[in-house]
Amino acid sequence: MPHRLSRWRWCAHAAMVFPAAYAATPILLDLIEHGQRPRIKDAALGLLSNALDYFPTVGHNRVDTPYDIQVPLCCAIARRIRGRRAALLARGIHGKQLLAEADLHWRLTIEEAELQADGSLTAIAALEGTPFQTPVEAELHVPQPVEQPLQTVWMDALTADASGTACIELRQTPFKHPPGSSLYPAECGRREH
Ligand SMILES: [Zn+2]
Repeated sequence: MPHRLSRWRWCAHAAMVFPAAYAATPILLDLIEHGQRPRIKDAALGLLSNALDYFPTVGHNRVDTPYDIQVPLCCAIARRIRGRRAALLARGIHGKQLLAEADLHWRLTIEEAELQADGSLTAIAALEGTPFQTPVEAELHVPQPVEQPLQTVWMDALTADASGTACIELRQTPFKHPPGSSLYPAECGRREH
């Protein structure tokens, strides 16, 4: 049946990740940290790497987490991976590679912000992940229970020290950035098949 065949082909070529991967991440990290068999540890590392690489299907790219709601799936998985840094470093080169991949899914938490005369915003923020090039479009998440639709802002500058303390400049925007707001790569929010 042509329809079924084409569908099968599509699935065979399009590797996908599902929101369940977020729930599975701590289980896979436990296997890496406490598992007895190297083959299983390597398999868990590979699955986590795939979970960061693959795109979810449309409408399945976001998960609610204890810290933010509607977080891009890859960034939520990456944050759990970063949370087990010591265990991954102990796994040598492959653990380090996975951490490096996870660190590309940065997150910034705004701690203090000052509105400038031109309408731009200078803020002190905590950076998780690797410093990145600007300008870049970022997704803004405001703390609950402030209700705001998901929005994006442009970040024109980032300077960060080794501790992760960062100074950022956000381009003029009508949106508010209350302290505790967080930023994610906007491109991660668009990762969908
Ligand atoms: Zn991401």
